[in-house]
Amino acid sequence: GADASNPLIAGLNEPQRDAVLTTEGPVLMLAGAGTGKTSALTRRLAYLVQSRLAWPSEILCVTFTNKAAREMRERVGQLVGPAVEGMPWLGTFHAIAAKMLRRHAELVGLESNYTIIDTDDQLRLLKQLIQAEGIDEKRWPAKQLAGCIDRWKNRGLNPRDLDARENEAYAEGKGQHFYHMYQERLKAVNACDFGDLLLHMLNILREHRDVLEQYQQRFKYVMVDEYQDTNQVQYLWLRLIAQHRRNICVVGDDDQSIYSWRGAEVANILRFEKDFPGAKVIRLEQNYRSTPQILAAASGLIDENTQRLGKTLWTERHGGDKLHVVGVWDAPEEARRVGDEIERLEREGAPLDQIAILVRAQYQTREFEDRFISIGMKYRIVGGFRFYERAEIRDALAYLRVIAQPADDLAFERIYNTPKRGLGAKALEKLHLLARRRGIPLAKAALEICDTDELPARARNTLLSLMRDFARWRDMAKEEGPADLIRTALDESGYTDALQAERTPEASGRLENLVELARAMEEYDSLGDFLEHVSLVMDNDARDDEEKVTIMTMHAAKGLEFDNVFLPGWEDGVFPSQRSLDEGGLASLEEERRLAYVAITRARRKCTILHAANRRIYGQWTSSIPSRFIAELPEDQIESETTLSGGASLWRAQWSEHADPFADVARSQPGRTVTRGPGWQRAAQREFETAPKRVKESTRSAASFASKPRTDIEVGTRVFHEKFGYGTVASQEGNKLEIEFEKSGSKRVLDSFVKPA
Ligand code: ATP
Ligand code: MG
Repeated sequence: GADASNPLIAGLNEPQRDAVLTTEGPVLMLAGAGTGKTSALTRRLAYLVQSRLAWPSEILCVTFTNKAAREMRERVGQLVGPAVEGMPWLGTFHAIAAKMLRRHAELVGLESNYTIIDTDDQLRLLKQLIQAEGIDEKRWPAKQLAGCIDRWKNRGLNPRDLDARENEAYAEGKGQHFYHMYQERLKAVNACDFGDLLLHMLNILREHRDVLEQYQQRFKYVMVDEYQDTNQVQYLWLRLIAQHRRNICVVGDDDQSIYSWRGAEVANILRFEKDFPGAKVIRLEQNYRSTPQILAAASGLIDENTQRLGKTLWTERHGGDKLHVVGVWDAPEEARRVGDEIERLEREGAPLDQIAILVRAQYQTREFEDRFISIGMKYRIVGGFRFYERAEIRDALAYLRVIAQPADDLAFERIYNTPKRGLGAKALEKLHLLARRRGIPLAKAALEICDTDELPARARNTLLSLMRDFARWRDMAKEEGPADLIRTALDESGYTDALQAERTPEASGRLENLVELARAMEEYDSLGDFLEHVSLVMDNDARDDEEKVTIMTMHAAKGLEFDNVFLPGWEDGVFPSQRSLDEGGLASLEEERRLAYVAITRARRKCTILHAANRRIYGQWTSSIPSRFIAELPEDQIESETTLSGGASLWRAQWSEHADPFADVARSQPGRTVTRGPGWQRAAQREFETAPKRVKESTRSAASFASKPRTDIEVGTRVFHEKFGYGTVASQEGNKLEIEFEKSGSKRVLDSFVKPA
């Protein structure tokens, strides 16, 4: 009908069109990476607005990151014009819940200007509670309690909902008690943590029919991207809101579920059809993103997983390179190699913002940062709280928080003696005591105490002048933008001076960061807006228009795409992570494999996987073996290369040291049979076999592998090895040693990893 000619659905394939036009009733779009799920969802949103089925403010649309929300907003704007400006309910779960909670804060005992605290504050608060209860923090670390509380919140559990088993999870049956006290304390300082945003809203919707009905009426349409990574509390919240009209469309891929460690449950996909009977299930199979090689490699890999719904993917695209698997000596060489490749791509005219390096763990980024700085490559780090996590940024934010909300005790504590102004622990103790006895915030206690002789005259004067400063800045906040405010506060408080006085390169880096912070704040009209933004940015994607290489974690890259993707650190213990090998057994190994699938499928044109023979992890050098995931890639889709002149035999020696990479998985789950994906050993073998043919020269590794045997070690020498302990050299072949270890038996190791004992 008229719809078929609608430009909004032009160019979409049949099932995508179906997803756009099926506006009424529940819809589940289940499809693999790069099949146009997000694209279809975006068009659907535009379609709803354009055909006036709903006002923009009547659509609830959840994205996984703030960046994704921004992109969707822009895209819909291009499609239907300025109508999107009023799309207040497009954002992440957290952003949307935070916005709702501001309106109903009083229903859970908060004021509408509540603070959202970060993990740092959370830990500090928990530590205080633990100490006050006289619990041994060494035995029952605050981190553990924080983990429990997060988990409970992700599952939608309030303190009263915990059963005996949950309660046992911390300090022998004190879980509930601490959770309860923590919530009370948060309320007292008018704050909530990240998990509270959704849990509070869920509680409100459950307990206040009028509020629930208001939202059920308001939201004519509900849509969710990356649905496979919703957790329980998000699911319950969605279900309540959508239950009335049942116009809910969710989009996901079970193979891309990578947040179970944060409470995400793939089972939510299966539950959807049960909770919304008659849901229309739409499958997309055509991949528009990647070359056939990339697609085939990713599909082959994910096929090794036992727990999946299974799906077919195909593409019409032709040509393209095989996946490139590169073995290097160590992490610096890995970074050098990637840097060289990127420079080459740049010379060929590839835009830098179409290049990404996706890492498994944050610590991997530093090596690339160092390298890129030295070769002048423009890059940006996305993900985590990196920028806002820096100490000086936290300090600055704490000043702003106290200005915005004098009752913010956690922020007050952080900066009350930062920079050092002679206010010691004694004075703070007194403030705490007073605050507790009178049930008032620290800042108020400070004002009161300044009227007494409780404190020595000097401390009193200092405190008084600090409180006057805050009053002045608070006045200023009403007149001036937040950027000017922070510059003034940092100058007048002496913070800037203190940093300048340090005269270290580190301090000047910190000053630069603060300048950067003020620059970021320029975009905001009010302090409140900015603080809300800060607490919500999961990705430090401060907008800049320059073309830069992106460095981010695989987790943060979900939903994104780049022409060229580099995946460094594919070694067992890095990826899959040691933790997944040690603790989780098969389930967590499968989650790591899904992560590998997500990572590879970010690439449009070319994907390069790297692995190093040696890596320093937590200050320890370890020799590594290539990730088992490399061995699981279909043979005919990859092309391997190693710059190690030690070549195949060396790799094999290392490989045999770890004869069975699944051994640790099996050990961690006694009694469980671990099935090994077909072909991993074969493929590994192949890698070694083909390696020498492609041996590269130059590189430092060649030199270090020229393998002059050490003269201080010979057969019979007693040596020490970091991993295996003490042993005696049984034979020596070049720089390889056979050592009879006292505890671990006979092993082959490299002589650079032992020292004479
Ligand atoms: P992921 O699972 O990684 O989130 P996705 O399923 O959301 O992927 P999109 O990001 O929407 O996929 O689309 C992948 C690429 O395919 C994008 O570059 C998009 O522009 C393109 N694309 C989507 N649908 C079509 C189509 N019908 N015709 C041509 N290109 C399309
Ligand atoms: Mg997507």
